[in-house]
Amino acid sequence: MKDKEPIRVNASRLWESLMEMGRIGATPGGGVGRIALTDLDRQARDLFVGWCEASGCRVRVDRMGNIFARRAGTDASLAAVMTGSHLDTQPLGGKFDGIYGVLAGLEAIRAMNDAGVETRAPIDVVVWTDEEGVRFPGMLASGVFSGVYSLEDALARSDADGVTMAAALAAIGYAGAEPVGAEQPQAFFEVHIEQGPILEAEDKTIGVVLGAQGQRCFHVTVTGEEGHAGTLPMTLRKDALLGAARMVDAVNAVAFRHEPHPVITVGALEVRPNSPNTIPGQTRFSIDSRHPDDAVLATVEQQMRDACQSVAEQSAVAVAVEPVSMRASVSFDADCVRSVRTAAERLSIPHRDIYSGAGHDACHLALAVPTGMIFVPCEGGISHNERENARPEDLADGCTVLTHVLMERAQ
Ligand SMILES: [Zn+2]
Repeated sequence: MKDKEPIRVNASRLWESLMEMGRIGATPGGGVGRIALTDLDRQARDLFVGWCEASGCRVRVDRMGNIFARRAGTDASLAAVMTGSHLDTQPLGGKFDGIYGVLAGLEAIRAMNDAGVETRAPIDVVVWTDEEGVRFPGMLASGVFSGVYSLEDALARSDADGVTMAAALAAIGYAGAEPVGAEQPQAFFEVHIEQGPILEAEDKTIGVVLGAQGQRCFHVTVTGEEGHAGTLPMTLRKDALLGAARMVDAVNAVAFRHEPHPVITVGALEVRPNSPNTIPGQTRFSIDSRHPDDAVLATVEQQMRDACQSVAEQSAVAVAVEPVSMRASVSFDADCVRSVRTAAERLSIPHRDIYSGAGHDACHLALAVPTGMIFVPCEGGISHNERENARPEDLADGCTVLTHVLMERAQ
């Protein structure tokens, strides 16, 4: 036994599992469309469950359809160390978002089996139902598990056709019997592609995720006055679109007053009456702002409000900014973060600390149990896209780090 040589996972086995899973819901553009609670979701779940059972795991399903595949430990009285992610995708999604975290958990178990590793605590690989929120609100199932939503409310949610979550789970045969969240793990780790360009740009293989950004979204209504495009002189206009355009610029400029920059996006715009020869009388636009520090986000909100107000005064229009949603930032558990960083260091895999720009099931779990996340690079930072891609060696390194974290925590 060469005990100086750390366990590495089987890169080609992990890659082949990802490619085989990617055939379920494969799209002509090379991506995957596997929307939660469809027959494709069922097929992917069945494949995963079969693989887990073949690896010696016992599989349970809870009332939200979350799947738990358990590799037993030597001490059944200990709470499990849990890892996993989701296997649903966007309608035109990729082969790695979510499913990588699920199959990395399975590959960690396969690698431990190969190496004859025993752990004291059990290890659970979880599939969280419907992370993406295409049909039902996203991340409901991990939210119920973590006490964010009630089970009854979640099961009663319905899709655009009036089908409830409960009925959709029953339809694919994954309305399990286990109570949701009754057995909490001692820690949760999720490995995921970064879905952004930072690791690739800096040539780092592992992102040690410190937390996830907070988010504040707004609707802005700019009111001016409609008028004839030919007869109303420029000096007398109250052009709501011109005012809004200046506000979009001013709101973006707020980002550059802070270091590191918050991300601020105006992505939706409505113009009334939207006619080529009428001066716009009213315009509505959206603002999405995110930053890891909630205090900075509060300052950013005030600065954006002030910027819109001052543009309104200079542009002879009125402005109203209404909050639409607000999500506090998440900080992952310091010990879990340290476990990830230490594992990457011991394995000599280049790493850096990073924040998640996107929401993940781990953000819910972090509210209930000690939680950490591991990121690996994806090509060009592209995700939620059929062209989403990642390198087999990076995926394997992320999985090896995960394996060492799980072994350490389960000892
Ligand atoms: Zn995801």
